[in-house]
Amino acid sequence: MQFSRRRIFGLIIAIAVITVMAGALSFPALERHYMRQQAAQNAVPLKLAVEGLRAALERYAPLPALIAERSELTELLNDPGDQTVLAQVNEDLRQTAATVKASDVYLMDISGRTIAAATYLESGSYLGRNFNYQSYFTQALNGDLSSFSVYGTTSGERGYFYAAPVEDGERIVGVLAIKFNIAAFESIWRGADSEFMVTDRNDFVFMSSRPDWHFRAIRPLSDGTLRLIAQNLQYPIDRIDLLPMTATPLNADAQQVDIQGTPDERFVRTSQRLTDLDWTMSALSPRRPATLNALNTLLIAGLTAGLVLAALLAYLLKQAGLAEAFAKEQDAKRRLETAVTERTADLQTALADLKQTQTDLIQAGKLSALGQMSAALSHEFNQPLAAVKSYADNATAFLDRDRMSEARDNILRISKMADRMATISAHLRNFARKPQQATGPLLLNAVIHDAIAVVDVRLAAEGGAIAYNPPKTDIWINGGHVRLQQVIVNLINNALDAMEDEPDRIVRIEVEGTTLRVRDTGSGIADKQVAHIFDPFFTTKAPGKGLGLGLSISYNIVSDFGGTLSAENHPGGGAVFTVRLQPAKPIEVAAQ
Ligand code: ADP
Repeated sequence: MQFSRRRIFGLIIAIAVITVMAGALSFPALERHYMRQQAAQNAVPLKLAVEGLRAALERYAPLPALIAERSELTELLNDPGDQTVLAQVNEDLRQTAATVKASDVYLMDISGRTIAAATYLESGSYLGRNFNYQSYFTQALNGDLSSFSVYGTTSGERGYFYAAPVEDGERIVGVLAIKFNIAAFESIWRGADSEFMVTDRNDFVFMSSRPDWHFRAIRPLSDGTLRLIAQNLQYPIDRIDLLPMTATPLNADAQQVDIQGTPDERFVRTSQRLTDLDWTMSALSPRRPATLNALNTLLIAGLTAGLVLAALLAYLLKQAGLAEAFAKEQDAKRRLETAVTERTADLQTALADLKQTQTDLIQAGKLSALGQMSAALSHEFNQPLAAVKSYADNATAFLDRDRMSEARDNILRISKMADRMATISAHLRNFARKPQQATGPLLLNAVIHDAIAVVDVRLAAEGGAIAYNPPKTDIWINGGHVRLQQVIVNLINNALDAMEDEPDRIVRIEVEGTTLRVRDTGSGIADKQVAHIFDPFFTTKAPGKGLGLGLSISYNIVSDFGGTLSAENHPGGGAVFTVRLQPAKPIEVAAQ
């Protein structure tokens, strides 16, 4: 199929539009692909962060139990009023806290009241405060080592608490607790490419590399949950805020999240569950690289498609150009063919016209010949018919008067006239003869001899002579004896006719090879007549003297023999008729 330029551009635009649409449609899937890749990349720093957090938490886990072993604690718990022991314990706890970089180390009696604390010198100390509501306390009281995260409702800072029972023999007499500032655990995340967050079972963010996310719930908290938090005094209810996060899962561990109200609000979040702590730790990396990667890919695909389209366009345009050139060539060829056909038709028409003209001319020639013939025949026959009429009238008149002799004479004249008309009739028959009569080898010498014998009668009557030197050798030609004789007689008669007014009427007959010439010394043939003397019924002679058929018949006879008859004027005066004959093989029998 052939493309026009317009169709090619249409096609290219259609493909371009489809490509752009396909790009727009495939963009989200492509972006998701890169987000999943990013999620997988997040998994590595996330794992490291989880391990780091676990290690930090576990490092301090044995501390409360170790400190709880100190006998002075049991001593103080057994006698809380002993100021010396209290001062000793307070100071010991202060030093311990300083050594392990804890926010506080404090001792509670079994009612949950704080009786000694490392921060005993500071304002806002836990001293005197009751923590019986805290789960780390109740768990420790049950004999468990415990840990728990709370927002320090007293100190105003987020704390991570470890606790252990203080025992007096088999009896639990108090609880020792250590509080670490959670910020210490977060410090290791600084400088990472990703943001980190740790959420508890309520999806409450209590740790994060971003301070503005602290103590914010990533999903609306139910009333029951809020009530529970308020009971435990775990977090300050009045400060709990919603972090509006909408998440679309990418796979089991990853989501694409939008956090409204934060500067870079589009993230890929990869999470890991810390089942024993009932925490979830997440690494959040900005989604921009995935978006850019997707855009890049589309751009490259688009450029590639563009290049391919450009190549296709160039190719199709070239093809179209070639097709156009081909079409032009075809067109030119077709036009040439049409022109040739038209010219041929013109020529054929011209040829047909020519043929028609020729036919018309032939017809006209025939009519003219017929006209000439009619004229000649009417001359030839009218004269004898008129004579016959008068002779017959005469004969009747003489018979009426019984003048038999005169009547007989007139009837004889009628008979002669009839003979003459019979002769004319014979001429006409000859003219209308069958052209194909047999020819054969003839001895030219013999034919000329017989012809001269025929005209001798006329020569004797009118005067005149034949000048003829018979050839020394036998000359064999192709022809028919009587017909060739008729031709020669005719030529001699014409020559004598032409010399009618000449004093010396000599007809010269020459033989040269198989060519016979008959020459006279008459007036010759007028120039305008040369072309017509062989036409039937052409004559310059007076009516009754010639029919105009002699040369025409002679011409046809010689042609039948395979020879030619021609006429010309002799430079020395008079006319020369030349008969050229075909040589023939001699007939052996003729030799005597
Ligand atoms: P016809 O003798 O009956 O006229 P031909 O066909 O024999 O018919 O001759 C045609 C004409 O050719 C003559 O009328 C004459 O004009 C011309 N012609 C023939 N022979 C000669 C000749 N020897 N010299 C001059 N004219 C001739």
